[in-house]
Amino acid sequence: MINFQYARVASTKAAIDALSKDPNAQWIAGGTNLVDLMKKGVLAPQKLVDINNLPLKEIKKENGRVSIGAMALNSDTAENTIIQKELPLLSLALKAGASQQLRNMATVGGNMMQRTRCPYFYNTDMPCNKRNPGSGCGALKGFNRMHAIFGASEKCIAVHPSDMCVALVALDAVVLVTGPKGERRIAFENFHRLPGETPQKDNTLERAELITAVEIPDNPFNKYVHYEKVRDRSSYAFALVSVAAAIDIKGDTISNVRLAMGGVAHKPWRLTSAEDFLKGKAASTENFTQAATLAMQGAKGYGDNNFKLKLAPITIVEALKTAAAKS
Ligand SMILES: Cc1cc2nc3c(=O)[nH]c(=O)nc-3n(C[C@H](O)[C@H](O)[C@H](O)COP(=O)(O)OP(=O)(O)OC[C@H]3O[C@@H](n4cnc5c(N)ncnc54)[C@H](O)[C@@H]3O)c2cc1C
Ligand code: SF4
Repeated sequence: MINFQYARVASTKAAIDALSKDPNAQWIAGGTNLVDLMKKGVLAPQKLVDINNLPLKEIKKENGRVSIGAMALNSDTAENTIIQKELPLLSLALKAGASQQLRNMATVGGNMMQRTRCPYFYNTDMPCNKRNPGSGCGALKGFNRMHAIFGASEKCIAVHPSDMCVALVALDAVVLVTGPKGERRIAFENFHRLPGETPQKDNTLERAELITAVEIPDNPFNKYVHYEKVRDRSSYAFALVSVAAAIDIKGDTISNVRLAMGGVAHKPWRLTSAEDFLKGKAASTENFTQAATLAMQGAKGYGDNNFKLKLAPITIVEALKTAAAKS
């Protein structure tokens, strides 16, 4: 373990100043990802700035929008009555993540910022463009069972590991950030990025920009929702493939639908062509199957993960069927 300094801050300004002034400082929230990365030698910040005392834990509904503070715990968010009533899809996705103990420590902001679980990223003896730009991608021709089937590049085929983020992209969430240049709002779809030529960048945040909250606009998806997660163990395991499905059904017809997948791309993967196809159609297995076929256009396997090409459409259909069957 390397030596590092530790400081605690109590305001967003102090948190931002601490990182602006010191290029070797990093915020720590629940620490469930950052400390692992430090133990493995992947990251070596010289100063940890503890942001757990920031007043950013509130979950509230105002003007039709639900706002979740960045420091709200994953477990508190999943159990919150506003979230369970208004955003049951988000509650399901959170509960599918990690384990109860980890969710008791992990924060909403930290969950969004967690790094990929690609084993080559964590093994400092192996090449990895994300950890060490220009060193190559160990997974491309290596063991790539957990890796991407959408949006990858020759530089990186890693996936984003979060469950929570799959629900948030489906629900059209907006990320509120504050940094040295002021505040800005980022559509969740644009928060995480594809690897392209710069896989070292997971998202569009700039240095010292702090996530303060996530906002979810008013939506009709409080009944027919499901989060289907396929994984190697029933707990404490990341998704091989996951699907967040939310449907609004009027009579026999789908009036609105949201779909997103996890475990398949460098970012939570929204399935807009499948959504467009389903709007105005009956909630039938036949339509769900056609939507899944559309969603899989452009998918590509890299060897060990070819099974995802079959698993993903099955999971989409299963998620839609389960969501539609809820009453
Ligand atoms: C064994 C194991 C299994 C897991 N399984 C799952 C799973 O199935 N599904 C899943 O979704 N997750 C899973 N996780 C990951 C877990 O959810 C994340 O580690 C957790 O959400 C990270 O939150 P944290 O608050 O602990 O972040 P930290 O580890 O404290 O921080 C992570 C990063 O976020 C940055 N950061 C934190 N807060 C902010 C902020 N407000 N603004 C800007 N940057 C910030 C930190 O600087 C750091 O770089 C698992 C983790 C483990 C160890
Ligand atoms: S897939 Fe990405 S994270 Fe994994 S080894 Fe390749 S560059 Fe690194």
